[in-house]
Amino acid sequence: MGNNSAATAHACVRATSIAPRYTDTEETFVDMAQETQTTDQGPRPIVPFLRLHPKPHLVGKKCRCGAIFVDSRAVACAKCGADGQFTETRLSNHGKVYVFSVVHQSFPGIKTPYISAIVDLPEGATVRANLVDVSPEEAEKDPNKVFGMPVEFTTSVAGKDREGHDVIVFSYRPAKA
Ligand SMILES: [Zn+2]
Repeated sequence: MGNNSAATAHACVRATSIAPRYTDTEETFVDMAQETQTTDQGPRPIVPFLRLHPKPHLVGKKCRCGAIFVDSRAVACAKCGADGQFTETRLSNHGKVYVFSVVHQSFPGIKTPYISAIVDLPEGATVRANLVDVSPEEAEKDPNKVFGMPVEFTTSVAGKDREGHDVIVFSYRPAKA
């Protein structure tokens, strides 16, 4: 349980992101899990476009022209220039590696080397994320094995925030056939 200022912050989050979408018994449980996420000790996604319920997935901003953007704070569409016409859309958990780089130096405490990739999603959106379960050394030696690699979305616990909630990050790993 947080202190008063934390409770206020949570109220803001709930007002903007929790919609009463679930009605039947089974999904009421899901809704309660979402409540837990913002009011209690449940896990927290590290970025707002990562959603944990009912199953972890990403959401993008979709313009009325069809273009989809991930992690964009732009007010206007980069493709057609339309202003404020975005709707939220759920993104696929499968994609393909478009490009990648092996990161050898990072912030203190971040284990290197690791692979940073840009993944193409079937919706036409791209997302930057780490690629896990692939050896950075092997990827550097034989990059053509990684370009175009089918990958799937996965999440893990990166640590805890100041209130003790698990912080959830997402990455991609080679897709199981
Ligand atoms: Zn557009």
